[in-house]
Amino acid sequence: MRAARMHDYNQPLVLEDVPIPDIKPDEVLLKVTAAGMCRTDVQLLDGYFRKYAQPAFPLTPGHEIVGEVEKIGGLVSKTVGLLEGDQAVVVGGWGDGTCRQCQQGNTHICAHGQWPGFGPYGGYGEYLPVPAKYLIKVDKRYHLKAEELAPLTDAGLTPYRGIKKLRDAGALGPNRTLAVLGIGGLGAYAVQYAKLLGAGATVVAFARNPEKLAVAKDFGADHVISTKGKSIEDVRKELSKATGQGEVDAVIDCSGAEEMIQMGFGLLSVAGHYSSVGLVGDKINLPLFPFVAREYTYHGSFWGNYNDLSEIISLAQGGKIRHVTKTIRFEEINETLDALRKGDIVGRAVVKY
Ligand SMILES: [Zn+2]
Repeated sequence: MRAARMHDYNQPLVLEDVPIPDIKPDEVLLKVTAAGMCRTDVQLLDGYFRKYAQPAFPLTPGHEIVGEVEKIGGLVSKTVGLLEGDQAVVVGGWGDGTCRQCQQGNTHICAHGQWPGFGPYGGYGEYLPVPAKYLIKVDKRYHLKAEELAPLTDAGLTPYRGIKKLRDAGALGPNRTLAVLGIGGLGAYAVQYAKLLGAGATVVAFARNPEKLAVAKDFGADHVISTKGKSIEDVRKELSKATGQGEVDAVIDCSGAEEMIQMGFGLLSVAGHYSSVGLVGDKINLPLFPFVAREYTYHGSFWGNYNDLSEIISLAQGGKIRHVTKTIRFEEINETLDALRKGDIVGRAVVKY
């Protein structure tokens, strides 16, 4: 099979022919039909995670995966409901199944977990073994495209979990304003979830790139504000003109760039909630007194679990999610990673096999 593999940091992926992997009895061999390309893949290559984990090389990136069931292991229960030829998406976080996080369904934050696309196998290869319990079948009757399903497993999932945290904290409602920071791969979905889960909240999208702001407007943002070359005070004035108040009650931050975090907290109202899902930057540096005195709540939110993804797939099957994707060929993976590094991709780039 073809695979684009990482042999070291700071080098292009090596496009090579490697054997199709074997499966264990509880696994399914998935023939990948499409894999989304995430900025995280660039960060993996550039060594962003180096201080947190030491992966073994060669490593196959690609953690947004959809495919077809090629082979089913002998111990996979019939009740899983998978047959050869079925279409399925991959749940990204595979836990040990025994710890408290796993027992609560949050296998993606298991301390002994594994993540496809951060080890030997990932979506940048044509086949991978997946434990059967981490596949969610997508009924082919809905005619959803592989290039639209793949990004739903991270770009289309991560902001969903982040917004659910805001919702569950009571931060959203008709008299609240929800800011979406950054309209890249995640933000284009975040705007839609802000409308779906926002309980009537006014949704304001913030980004620098006018093309990305146009996507946000098209996907339902009530207002869009360009942050390019603007101070927090400039942005506040525009926000005030648009919504009648120069503050927001909740933030879903799909960027994570340091200046974006400063701006987000700079605009946050008393008792505001901030949910972080973007990882562009590396640090949070905030004045403590306002954080305490204004009673801010900060939510870290990572990827999503099986239940989050199954909710997303239901929304997609119901035609309630729109996509901006750009399909690329396997041979174009390295140049697309370069474009992602520069922030030049609007929507999601997806490798289609
Ligand atoms: Zn666990």
